[in-house]
Amino acid sequence: MIIVLKPGTTEDQLQHIVERIDALGLKAHLSRGTYRTIIGVIGDETKLQSTPLAAIPGVAEVVPILPAYKLASIEAHPLPSVVDVAGVKIGGGHLAMIAGPCAVESPERMDAIAAAVRSAGANILRGGAFKPRTSPYGFQGMGEEGLRILRDVGDRYGMPIVTEVMDPRRVELVEQYTDMFQIGARNMQNFPLLTEVGRSRKPVLLKRGMSATVKDLLMSAEYILSQGNAGVVLCERGVKGFDTLARNMFDVAAVPLLKTLSHLPIIVDPSHACGRPDIIPACALAGLAAGADGVHIEVHNCPEEAFSDGQQALLPEQYAQLAQQMRGLAELLGKTVSPLPEAVA
Ligand code: PEP
Ligand code: MN
Repeated sequence: MIIVLKPGTTEDQLQHIVERIDALGLKAHLSRGTYRTIIGVIGDETKLQSTPLAAIPGVAEVVPILPAYKLASIEAHPLPSVVDVAGVKIGGGHLAMIAGPCAVESPERMDAIAAAVRSAGANILRGGAFKPRTSPYGFQGMGEEGLRILRDVGDRYGMPIVTEVMDPRRVELVEQYTDMFQIGARNMQNFPLLTEVGRSRKPVLLKRGMSATVKDLLMSAEYILSQGNAGVVLCERGVKGFDTLARNMFDVAAVPLLKTLSHLPIIVDPSHACGRPDIIPACALAGLAAGADGVHIEVHNCPEEAFSDGQQALLPEQYAQLAQQMRGLAELLGKTVSPLPEAVA
């Protein structure tokens, strides 16, 4: 960390800053220039993160050398991480194709959609049992019954499953059923929830908050990693924009940007980013072309009857066509769609 002092900082102020650094067990190296004095701080930077150095009189600027998202950073782990979701690999050239309805609605519906996405080549099945709805009057999900249905159907088709957990008190319950937790956009900064899934050893799909910066997303990942759970997969799902024609603004640049900062796999969710089936396939392919490690798509066999997000669901045949294009692009990029853990008849 480098501390830049204000012009005219007194010797007493300088001394005080050095004393504060010493008290933290760090070393201060002074460099006096003609116009400015700077202090290089040597030692464990994490000790300084909760110290408001910028509030000390005489300090103009505090410049960290290492990012605050230490464990998530590329410096900590220069090679791409590969996250294993019950046998399906994500990252390091392995692509996830996550598909399924927004919400688990019934055993029959879940079965039909799973059969369709599996035959199209999806390798992880999704479905929400606890739904974060803007309106308290909207369908809130089937709860534990939904988890049971998703688990059964996943097992029947040999597909790992991912489902959202919204409440730290439900992590234990959801963990009994799922192969991967989903932390939704609205909960990206629910720190007790992040800590709780961090204590689990099941992988976590962490969605970017709709108003969160790329660094905010990495700081949230850090919460999970700091608890010892290394299985974090990031997800770009669109941020709030000013244009009302699409549901959100798909920030495709976040994908290569995250690759410069972090070793964690990053997938894209063009369903929630776009909110319209007519532009989802193009954005899915753009995400892959930008370096994403997977694509997350909502699919429904009768969108007009869907309990949530029917307006953005791809029909099974639209998904099958997209899946074929994704495989073609993956080959071009030298990546492979992770096979299902074991062939199921
Ligand atoms: C979802 O995956 O259905 C969902 C609610 O996503 P997000 O948290 O990205 O809005
Ligand atoms: Mn949804």
